[in-house]
Amino acid sequence: MAELRQNSTVRTQILIVEDDCGFAELMASILNEGGYDCDSSSSGRDALVWLSSQCPDLVILDYSLPDMTGAAFIEQMWELGCDIPFIIVTGKDDACLAVEMMKTGACDYLLKDTSFLDRLLAVVTRALQEAETRLRLERAKQSLRLSETRLARAQKIARMGSWEWDIRVGDIYWSDELYRIFGFGPGEPDKISKEWIFSLINSADLPAFKKDIFHSVKTLQPFNIIYRTLSRTGGELVVNIQGEVERGDNGKACLISGTLLDITARIRAESEIQQLINYDTLTGLPNRSLLHDRLRLAIAQAALEQHAVWVLCLDLDRFKGVNDTLGHRAGDRLLQEVAKRLAACVRESDTLARLGGDEFVIVLNGVVSDKGVTTVAKKILGLVAEPISIDGHELYITASIGIAAFPMDGEDGHALLKHADLAMYKAKEQDRNNFHFFSHDLNKKVMERMMLETSMRKALERNEFFLMYQPQVDARTGQIIGVEALLRWNHPDMGLLSPDRFIYLAEETGFIVPLGEWVLLTACRQNKEWQSQGFPPIRVSVNLSGKQFGQQRLDEMISAVLMETGLDPDCLELEITESAIMKNAEHNITILRKLKDMGIALAIDDFGTGYSSLSYLKHFPLTRLKIDRSFVRDITVNPDDAAIAEIIIAMAQTLKLSVIAEGVETRAQMEFLSFHNCVEMQGYLFSRPVPADKMANMLRHGLHY
Ligand code: C2E
Ligand code: MG
Ligand code: MG
Repeated sequence: MAELRQNSTVRTQILIVEDDCGFAELMASILNEGGYDCDSSSSGRDALVWLSSQCPDLVILDYSLPDMTGAAFIEQMWELGCDIPFIIVTGKDDACLAVEMMKTGACDYLLKDTSFLDRLLAVVTRALQEAETRLRLERAKQSLRLSETRLARAQKIARMGSWEWDIRVGDIYWSDELYRIFGFGPGEPDKISKEWIFSLINSADLPAFKKDIFHSVKTLQPFNIIYRTLSRTGGELVVNIQGEVERGDNGKACLISGTLLDITARIRAESEIQQLINYDTLTGLPNRSLLHDRLRLAIAQAALEQHAVWVLCLDLDRFKGVNDTLGHRAGDRLLQEVAKRLAACVRESDTLARLGGDEFVIVLNGVVSDKGVTTVAKKILGLVAEPISIDGHELYITASIGIAAFPMDGEDGHALLKHADLAMYKAKEQDRNNFHFFSHDLNKKVMERMMLETSMRKALERNEFFLMYQPQVDARTGQIIGVEALLRWNHPDMGLLSPDRFIYLAEETGFIVPLGEWVLLTACRQNKEWQSQGFPPIRVSVNLSGKQFGQQRLDEMISAVLMETGLDPDCLELEITESAIMKNAEHNITILRKLKDMGIALAIDDFGTGYSSLSYLKHFPLTRLKIDRSFVRDITVNPDDAAIAEIIIAMAQTLKLSVIAEGVETRAQMEFLSFHNCVEMQGYLFSRPVPADKMANMLRHGLHY
């Protein structure tokens, strides 16, 4: 359709097609006066040529042109694509023709009679106005059609439909997309009723759905509901409907309309994400993240209701072995089976989670007594310990459990888990296939242990270790015949630490190997130093941990130290406990023999506290037995201790070994021992362990006791 020029600066243009040039001029002058611009053409053909490049707002067409009829002109004009409003002018008063032309689309019909010129301006103006109105309407329709298509497209993409429910008559309208969402083709079902819609809604969601809708109808408030419903095929859809209520003349609700959004895919994706975020993929159990949430909830509830929450940390014993020998797939199967067994031990209100690896956590809600927890723990251990068959292998696996409780052992989930974990390690340490309750004492020990463990690694470089020396005396002469090197740790925070506080840890962590080497080197160097200062040679006794025997090439390390310091092997004695020698006896004998061959003396420390059999002892290349100070302490008052000391002395004589007593604190003890032929002694009576320079003083001036 032709563009109407609404811009006031552009005047409306009219084409007059009229072979009577005088008449045409007359029309043009009237129209010019009315504010219109006119062009005229006396032939139809010329006018059509002109129209192929111009586009006037209106054509005034003489029906009887010399070269064509008005009808033919209109037809050709349309063929040119010019859909311009036109008015027919004719000299004949022909009613039929008039109707015909109006049908064809003419805006009006003007007869060349006497009143023609009077009516012309009004007819043209009206025709132009009507044309403009028509154009506007057409545009509005077009944009409506466009927005409808767009809406339908958007609804389809969004899986959103629209609906209306006329409450007064009960009619329900669904948009096409709504049918599609529910899986219906066009035209089915033929009638939608409220009851039918209700019958599709999941029965668990229906009461809330009805309540919300009826509440809206009553209060005229908009609503927004998510519910589950069935599709045509019986599949479940999750949909979100939103709607508004319109009120009628009587002020009551008359119509509800709104949208329905299919959110099934979104909900499914969300729940898959939730599953991934919160659950362990191997066992399907809650993971650490969900465990923390549940624990937080359980604690909050327990705090309100004043009861306990028990946290059980469970770790499989030697699970790594299964993984290493049978492969990870078997390991996974084992974990799945264990998860199943654990699930059988807990109630629905409890939480069973897997933290990863072979670590599981159980949160027991509302079990009141620790007796109840003990029962559960025992049941779990029993079930886990039953043989598990995997890939034709019968596996016997056990677990260790640590238990902590809210509020006694921790205020929050992190503390509880940490404490249950500590207790679990304690259970493992004691005896596997066991459970252990957390205690604050345990916590203190473990905390100290952890702190020591980390600081120990740095202590060597920071020179925090040093040696004290305690003289060993020949009681007959009072001469210092040797010194025992005793390790100390000057801890930056904890102060001076005696070896009982950290040697066990160094042994467990393997740190004893570099530490022991440092002790040996320092002691040998010191002894050599005393010799260089002119003191007569004495032996230095260095304690050797059992763990150092496991060390590769212990003998080589020792001979390297002797080489480095230049100390004569005769001046070195190694003290080893009975249990350390016995542990891997065959291997140790070989090493000890090598050491003995090098000329180093070997003493058994704390003798009498172990279980060494005499027959066995004679196989060891020993030099000396060191009577443990626990026998020496009561040697003068306790006949049993006295007897043991006597036996040890006699045994040493039989085996042709020297004997020394440690922990000699009193003169009476000294005299008893001397009387029974044990003349070498060490103890506070002579001197406490002292630093190297003080020891040098003693060597210089002798002992006073
Ligand atoms: P031990 O080898 O039996 O050392 C003797 C312990 O008895 C020393 O304790 C010493 O201070 C203490 N003692 C000495 N005379 C008396 C006394 O008259 N009465 C009493 N009540 N105690 C006395 P210390 O220095 O605390 O060492 C404890 C243990 O630590 C040692 O027992 C030894 O087994 C171990 N140890 C010390 N230094 C080292 C080392 O360098 N390496 C290794 N592996 N262990 C070491
Ligand atoms: Mg010792
Ligand atoms: Mg000892």
